[in-house]
Amino acid sequence: MRAIVLALVGIGIGLAVNARAAEGFGPAAVAAEARVFRLGKLELVALHDAQFVAPNDAKVFGVDVGAPAVADLLKSRGLADDRVTLSVNALLVKTAGRVVLLDSGLGPKAHGSLQASLQSAGIAPETVTDVVITHTHGDHVGGLVDADGKLAFPKATIRMSAPEWEWMKSQPTAAELVKAITPRVITFAPGKPIAPGITPVALDGHTPGHMGYEIVSGKQRLLDIGDLAHSSVVSLAKPAWTMGFDSDAVKAKATRQSTLARLAASGELVFAPHFPFPGVGHVAAAGAGFDWKPGVP
Ligand SMILES: [Zn+2]
Repeated sequence: MRAIVLALVGIGIGLAVNARAAEGFGPAAVAAEARVFRLGKLELVALHDAQFVAPNDAKVFGVDVGAPAVADLLKSRGLADDRVTLSVNALLVKTAGRVVLLDSGLGPKAHGSLQASLQSAGIAPETVTDVVITHTHGDHVGGLVDADGKLAFPKATIRMSAPEWEWMKSQPTAAELVKAITPRVITFAPGKPIAPGITPVALDGHTPGHMGYEIVSGKQRLLDIGDLAHSSVVSLAKPAWTMGFDSDAVKAKATRQSTLARLAASGELVFAPHFPFPGVGHVAAAGAGFDWKPGVP
């Protein structure tokens, strides 16, 4: 998601945001929640940060096919047809002396509950050694700072791909956050591990340097897909539909289709930041598209 924080900080459109909020759209706070699970020898924790409700207005989902087609799909699954409800989740991995947080949620200024969810799992922010970023939209990097704009994970190195960091620095709306995190940022190229058992995988199209993360322990694997897919219903059933938050829609569609096909074939575990909390499960082939099979091992 890209619009959230941009919309929240845009004073000129504040009234429009408030009107949408009154209709139940936009970001909303959730109760602190953490789900601990194991992947091989590793301990992982899914963390609930927020909820985000996108109106079915052909600006976010089904941009190329229109709202009625999206409504038909939602109705066929017994869901409200005027909106698509997303979760905002982050993932924490404890590996070989490192405590690695993948994405940081919206942040306390934008209804983010990540810190409370970490606390509920007994994890203090100063024990986090690395914050690893899938991409720099506000719902993934907003929680890098606290309500005062200070680093929320004071001892952590912040890691992201080199093209993503270049892109973030070019965004005027991110200037304050860039200034706060610059001393801590280390960039990487995909393909080499950035911590024991955690390897960035380029998932092109959503943003200029969007990354997934493959987490491996023994024969067990999990892919954090970042924003490869936003809705566990729409993005999986119709991976070729244009998504308004993708910066390169054509590339994003191709990546979504090929990656979902690979995940369905391999049967590996998946973590999705925007699927219903805890965002852990498997992708299964279903007709021309895919289905989400939620489940924590
Ligand atoms: Zn997102």
